[in-house]
Amino acid sequence: MTHVIDGKRIAADIRESLRQEVTWLREQHGIVPGLAVVIVGDDPASKVYVRMKRQACEAAGIASFHHELPGSTSQEALLNLIAQLNADPAVYGILTQLPLPGHISERAVLEAISPFKDVDGFHPYNVGMLSIGEPLFPPCTPFGVMELLRVEGIDPRSRHVVVVGRSNIVGKPMALLMLAAHATVTICHSKSADLSALVGAADILVAAVGKPRMIPGDWIREGAVVIDVGTNRLPDGSLCGDVDFESARLKASHITPSPGGVGPMTIAMLLQNTVKSAKRRHGLS
Ligand code: NDP
Repeated sequence: MTHVIDGKRIAADIRESLRQEVTWLREQHGIVPGLAVVIVGDDPASKVYVRMKRQACEAAGIASFHHELPGSTSQEALLNLIAQLNADPAVYGILTQLPLPGHISERAVLEAISPFKDVDGFHPYNVGMLSIGEPLFPPCTPFGVMELLRVEGIDPRSRHVVVVGRSNIVGKPMALLMLAAHATVTICHSKSADLSALVGAADILVAAVGKPRMIPGDWIREGAVVIDVGTNRLPDGSLCGDVDFESARLKASHITPSPGGVGPMTIAMLLQNTVKSAKRRHGLS
């Protein structure tokens, strides 16, 4: 019987335990973790994500510092704001919502964020720390996948994990976290030959491509664990994953739906990284 992994419920449980931890930090230590979220421009999807992050912060008792800048903001002005946030003791995490307008270098902005406040885990220092197996802040989406597996009692150790997608924010850090968890890892991308055979060799499949339902159930090995990071908007406005859920669930032992699987975990892990940052600064972790 296939088990559908309920990311919404697992994320809600994590957020509730973080709320209790934040209460303890405030009442016992006078510490209020704070997250600064910077958004530049009017991208509607980015605005929705930022609103969700704010609401999740407020529900967990985390202070949220919202900086909404016009699309015409210069790179210099944005870097100045980040320098202020780096220096602000009430700010424990800084997140710059991507994508940024074309005239601003994402690399320059990500590198400007203090690695000790880089709760997205995108600073090259944190990327390097992840690659040597000691991340300060694991990137939220792949970290969320690891949490889903942990909660479901699925240990990647000695298993063959196939990650489809090699982006800096999902595919590559996903592969590194799996490697650190002692999996044998294969990374696939758009130039990989015979993708169906590679997918079929997976004990645990992580799809992070961004192509609606491109992985059919008949590629998947009987009994595999299927984690679908893909979140794709269809012409009718509905969302779907990179895996064809209905055919894949006939083969998988465990499968995440999309939406409702990995998506809710990303924000939960962002909050967790922010609380971790606060505890680290005050010597509580
Ligand atoms: P990117 O577009 O940055 O990367 C996509 C990857 O998929 C690339 O490595 C690309 O290969 C690979 N790819 C594209 N086409 C194929 C193909 N036909 N066969 C094999 N590989 C292919 O996307 P992201 O990593 O940012 O996001 C991936 C998906 O995850 C998206 O649906 C996104 O919406 C979702 N997402 C969900 C999040 C959440 O749930 N919170 C957070 C972040 C992302 P190549 O490198 O060769 O181009």
